[in-house]
Amino acid sequence: MARSSTVLDSALDAIGHTPLIRLDRIAKQEGLKCNLLGKLEYTSAGGSVKDRIAKRMVEAAEKEGKLIPGKSVVIEPTSGNTGIGLAMACAIKGYSVIITMPNKMSLEKEAALRALGAEVVRTPTEAAWDAPESHIGVAQRLQREIPGGIILDQYRNVNNPLAHELTTAPEIIEAVASTPSTSTHPSTGKVDVFIAGAGTGGTVSGVAKGLKTTHNPSCTVVAVDPIGSILALPATLNEAGEGSPYIVEGIGYDFVPDVLTRTPGLINSWVKTSDDEAFAAVQKLFRREGVLVGGSSGSALGGALAWLQSDEGRVVAQTPGMNVVVLLPDGIRNYIGKEWFLKMALQGEPSQLAASIAEV
Ligand code: PMP
Repeated sequence: MARSSTVLDSALDAIGHTPLIRLDRIAKQEGLKCNLLGKLEYTSAGGSVKDRIAKRMVEAAEKEGKLIPGKSVVIEPTSGNTGIGLAMACAIKGYSVIITMPNKMSLEKEAALRALGAEVVRTPTEAAWDAPESHIGVAQRLQREIPGGIILDQYRNVNNPLAHELTTAPEIIEAVASTPSTSTHPSTGKVDVFIAGAGTGGTVSGVAKGLKTTHNPSCTVVAVDPIGSILALPATLNEAGEGSPYIVEGIGYDFVPDVLTRTPGLINSWVKTSDDEAFAAVQKLFRREGVLVGGSSGSALGGALAWLQSDEGRVVAQTPGMNVVVLLPDGIRNYIGKEWFLKMALQGEPSQLAASIAEV
């Protein structure tokens, strides 16, 4: 495992190894007695949880002889973060990159991608996943047309969930297991609940597998899906608002990716979240915990808080020492110019105070 106290070979060694932090102030405000812990993925070198899979998919393809420096063109449909991880890895290793990305995804992600040397092709947000004009359809066409084109395919690639099973889960387990139980912070020493949003589902299913097979078979895993998406089970959960647009980026789909369903039984419960819940939770993370997270982190925390208030989660919520880990996938760098963020940042008490000071 790379350590920051040694010289690293490249930025690829600064992927992952992210901190697990107490969200005590939010827990207190919400009346929770359990430990609420946030896995802060924006501290990864490329800025998101998806760096982990990008690195693993590229290195696995290299081992299989599928990538040739100077010849191969890595093409990937993504909501942006996998693209940024791939562009980072490919900048270091010398492969060209083309990212196909729905229009809805932020300009900040496109700028980061282009800055890393990737080409970016935008696609209509409303295109069905299997339409030729969707980000997936366009990537497939480009692969057919471009010599050396290869899609690593995060929706099917085993290295997507595997990256989380082998890095994200062990990091969480190590942090929780090595933190002693004290009178101020009692702990079961185990991960009792894990909560994450689902896009490809690689994070939630991969971490779930790692936790359940190597650490705590009775760990409860809760997946979060935005209203408008169809990933949640039972499917009746998706009926209200199916197909309606939502602003949060990176989670939810109009098809169920392979990586999410490959190993049945890993996810115990699903929670649906709205943009409003997500942005309210982002604001709590900013103002109470001082962490500069992105929108889907708000979905994950909002989903966690809703689950902890539900019949299913209430006992955990009120049991001191229970460890509830929420995965916070990326940071505000990706959304700094987005209306939802600017409204949140520039309105409300502190900035009003600043404005009134400026007027005097
Ligand atoms: N949040 C953000 C910001 C993302 O980019 C992604 C990846 N699409 C996710 C959450 C979901 O991660 P996964 O694909 O592993 O389900």
